[in-house]
Amino acid sequence: MRAFTYERATSVEAAAKAAASNPDAKFIAGGTNLLDLMKLDIETPTHLIDVNGLGLDEIKATSDGGLRIGALVRNTDLATHDTVRRDYGLVTRALVAGASGQLRNRATTAGNLLQRTRCPYFYDTNQPCNKRQPGSGCSAIGGFSRQHAVIGVSDACIATHPSDMAIAMRALDAVVETVKADGTQRSIPLADFHTLPGETPHIETVLNRDEVITAVLLPPPVGGKQIYRKVRDRASYAFALVSVGAVLQRDGTGRVAVGGVAHKPWRVAEADAALPNGARQAAGALLADAQPTEQNRFKIQLVERTLGAVLAEARG
Ligand code: SF4
Repeated sequence: MRAFTYERATSVEAAAKAAASNPDAKFIAGGTNLLDLMKLDIETPTHLIDVNGLGLDEIKATSDGGLRIGALVRNTDLATHDTVRRDYGLVTRALVAGASGQLRNRATTAGNLLQRTRCPYFYDTNQPCNKRQPGSGCSAIGGFSRQHAVIGVSDACIATHPSDMAIAMRALDAVVETVKADGTQRSIPLADFHTLPGETPHIETVLNRDEVITAVLLPPPVGGKQIYRKVRDRASYAFALVSVGAVLQRDGTGRVAVGGVAHKPWRVAEADAALPNGARQAAGALLADAQPTEQNRFKIQLVERTLGAVLAEARG
């Protein structure tokens, strides 16, 4: 690990200004991903801005009947919150499907959205990787790509986003609230928060360097059966090959987001509309423009089958 300086920010504004004044600074909260990346020399910040003391750890009802989740709410606290369990069960189910109890005790809501891909080549500093070192090439294309994305890919990168929670929040139309160093606030729909790799896979969100996530907002509850099904190579402590987060109403309508297939949580309006017609049509709409590799082509059918299982579970 390289040497770095460290400060504890005492306000959101101070944290944003500290980031604005140092292009090599990083925010740190739970550190469950960043510290690993620093030890491996993948992330090399010269300065860490600790945001744990900013008081962003409350879950509160909003005036429109939704929920405001502070950026620093720990994953365990979010998953076990009474209102979340009752009205946003999809979030709880997705959270407990991810990581381990110890990691969930430490990891934060904002950090969960910002965690980086688990592409093995990204973590192997002996291998070319455009995300780690722009312009060096992509070892996964033509390499071992069983875990990788099948849609929204580019010639530069085929990595997936690893978050389970983000899939639930995408299905629930979450909005990310931020503050920049100049005091400007933004409300960014989660649909627009993560980017596709394109020619710049090292850029993963629309956040500016000096932008602090303060909260994630959930709209008023939508009811329905909320199911998160994660398919992975082993029963626990593994990232999704494919995951399906769905909210399904009695009349067959609903919404669905899919993980393990793209650089961001994947949701398509046509797939939501096709849900009453069954898994085949909805999965077809979700992955209409898929560009799988030979090794991960199986994910196309796996999405359909996983969605089929989710629809069957909803029907009881
Ligand atoms: Fe790097 Fe993306 Fe290629 Fe993985 S898929 S090696 S993260 S560029």
